[in-house]
Amino acid sequence: MEPVLKVSHLKKYFPMGNNQILKAVDDVSFEIYQGKTLGLVGESGCGKTTCGRTCTGLYSRTGGQVLFKGQDVHEMRGKDRKDFTKKVQTIFQDPYASLDPRMKVNDIIAEGIRIHHMASKKEEREIVQELLRQVGLQSEHANRYIHEFSGGQRQRIGIARALAIHPEFLVCDEPISALDVSIQAQIVNLLREMQDKMGLTYLFVAHDLSMVRHISDQVAVMYLGKIVELTSSDELYSHPVHPYTQALLSAIPIPDPDVEATRERIVLKGDVPSPISPPKGCRFRGRCKYATAKCGGIEPKMKQIGTGHFVACHLYNKEDA
Ligand code: SF4
Repeated sequence: MEPVLKVSHLKKYFPMGNNQILKAVDDVSFEIYQGKTLGLVGESGCGKTTCGRTCTGLYSRTGGQVLFKGQDVHEMRGKDRKDFTKKVQTIFQDPYASLDPRMKVNDIIAEGIRIHHMASKKEEREIVQELLRQVGLQSEHANRYIHEFSGGQRQRIGIARALAIHPEFLVCDEPISALDVSIQAQIVNLLREMQDKMGLTYLFVAHDLSMVRHISDQVAVMYLGKIVELTSSDELYSHPVHPYTQALLSAIPIPDPDVEATRERIVLKGDVPSPISPPKGCRFRGRCKYATAKCGGIEPKMKQIGTGHFVACHLYNKEDA
């Protein structure tokens, strides 16, 4: 089966002046298949949002390739480009910033339908009503403004807006990060429900691993512009191997006081280095308790260590030279 999205050696650099270059995404590869979700996880500033935006063509690429159903996203023109903008939608982190506060909910949701001439005025009203129902809101909400809703309701409106033009692929860019934990679960459940009903494919960007588990089939852990571990969700949570992944997982609280009191928490030292001048060799070496001289001199390559389990770390790739 051909993947819906195939990202190969993608690079996105930003010139910063003074001959400096910010390498936000640096040689990233992954595939997402129809009806599946890839969780892209890492600390703020690791490049995950930039990666998502480059995959949707919002940013140009510096190198590599993004194929959507076999077509190069950055080479699409004319009708192909228009079709792509219909099939690929983004749900943003802050719905209050991404939805126009001067528009009524009805117009926010219907905007894409109008742009793509997908329905008559009467049909449009019915579609909006149905979408509101599907995302758990009521029909009278169509006549209200965005400031009249809670954070969770606004995100539901953002989801309805994204679904209005029958997309096939959604980039969910930290859609739950600004929400309370109880609301986060509701939004994740809603996204899963919509995925099952409509066969949607997701790239789910998040900064911690706790909620990602409940929606992702595969998880890619990113650090300073690179993917350091990529595997199935079950494997990542049961057998994390990269020291960074282990640290991220150890930060998730366990709702059992006995287990929580006895388990080891890995506290990472220092801050994430600047992506303008990342460390040579392994980018994680300044914070890794297993770092050796080799880690400072040679960049670890991605290596398969099990079925569908890839890691970039010298502890698992003795052949790196
Ligand atoms: Fe740590 Fe070295 Fe592995 Fe990097 S390559 S994660 S520094 S052991």
